[in-house]
Amino acid sequence: MSDQAHLTIVSDKNAGTHAQVLSSKYDVAGPRYTSYPTAPHFSVDFGCNEYRQELIKQRGSSIAPLSLYVHIPFCKNICYYCACNKIVTRDSTVSRRYLNYLNKEIAMQAELAGQARPVTQLHFGGGTPTFLNDAELTELMHHLGQHFKLSDSPDREYSIEIDPRTVNKDRLALLKGLGFNRLSFGVQDFDPEVQTAINRCQSFNMLLSLTNAARLYQFKSVSYDLIYGLPKQNLQSLTNTLEQVLELAPDRITFYNYAHLPARFSSQRAIDRHTLPSTGQRLEMLALIADVLTTAGYVYIGMDHFVKPNDELAIAQQEGRLQRNFQGYSTCLAPDLIGLGVSSISSLRHSYAQNEKDLERYYEQLDNNRLAISRGLRLSHDDEVRRHIISELICNLNLDIKQVEQHFQLCFFEYFANILETLKTYQKDGLILMESDKIRVTLEGRSMLRNICMTFDRYLSSDAQPRYSNTL
Ligand code: SF4
Repeated sequence: MSDQAHLTIVSDKNAGTHAQVLSSKYDVAGPRYTSYPTAPHFSVDFGCNEYRQELIKQRGSSIAPLSLYVHIPFCKNICYYCACNKIVTRDSTVSRRYLNYLNKEIAMQAELAGQARPVTQLHFGGGTPTFLNDAELTELMHHLGQHFKLSDSPDREYSIEIDPRTVNKDRLALLKGLGFNRLSFGVQDFDPEVQTAINRCQSFNMLLSLTNAARLYQFKSVSYDLIYGLPKQNLQSLTNTLEQVLELAPDRITFYNYAHLPARFSSQRAIDRHTLPSTGQRLEMLALIADVLTTAGYVYIGMDHFVKPNDELAIAQQEGRLQRNFQGYSTCLAPDLIGLGVSSISSLRHSYAQNEKDLERYYEQLDNNRLAISRGLRLSHDDEVRRHIISELICNLNLDIKQVEQHFQLCFFEYFANILETLKTYQKDGLILMESDKIRVTLEGRSMLRNICMTFDRYLSSDAQPRYSNTL
């Protein structure tokens, strides 16, 4: 590890105290804005027929690129912190039945979307995509290739989430051969006590060997997903984990905060809440992570994401062309994303649609030769205005007010008169810089991006009960 990467806790006491005061003030429940409006606001009034109409409309107008998301819901073991849509099973035969239905859905969706549209972005998520065996993964990629126009371009983003416990070097070689060029490893934490407390034990050496293999096979990027706020985690254990992460030097690092919501996610009931770090400790952890990773040279692009300075996400952000969808930040997002598999969400130009979350209902709909859409939303003009603003702030940390006014034919300061006071408070707290024609997010404001975006969210006041995790 280089000297530059050596770990230090924030040394400027005044700066540290100011940051903590702000952090406490802005530590409230709020969405992560992978979409706007967010999924809880999708409605059953938007179903299969509405989705078909929207998709056919887009196909008719262009051969614009497509993004695909494929959801594999199965996992062999339960991780206690998990808040994903997954099915835990040791029965490896369940994936055969699932693949049969998924193949049917792929054919139906491709027919509607148009098979000439190049797929510039593909993401396998879960659950655990590598729950599928080698033959099943191969079959699935071939089936996608038969129905959609998969890309060979080196610029494509074909990524897959990896549970390190389910792969070896040979499996990584297979994934490369199938066309994936990006890997995202679920690391969470390297501390053995924390790993036991969350029921996810995987060694540093396992990650070392897989990361080396990923480099050997020339994957374009290796990402690590980590979590802070886990049971038994403390500043020292986190410091050790950060040291180990820096030793492996992934291209991208995402540091999520753990949201303990046992009433909603039953697996979290296995976590002893007395072993969770306090709010104050979580805020110290957040400061430590940002300090250590930026000192080591990573660029904090916002929303928990850190990347190497020469990473294309960092460059795209500097050039104001970074984008984001359900799978995270991207440089080559297509105008339409099709979600495939149980619970997956499609994001078309002017609408969202989500598949059935229940596996048997998903199968039942496809048995009836219907797409498994259960709910969705067609965006209003106001939704489109706010979606654009939230996306610009999250991706490019900068809002061009004049451009919003011209594009949407409105006067920004009149349209958003009711939130100007809040924006002024953010300016006073140092989170944003407001000019007559620009809003810029400051370095300090990057940690509070969710709060800043919440100000533009028209739906939040109608939320009867908190359904989101805390912002910090
Ligand atoms: S965290 Fe990932 S691997 Fe663990 S149970 Fe949840 S979906 Fe499965």
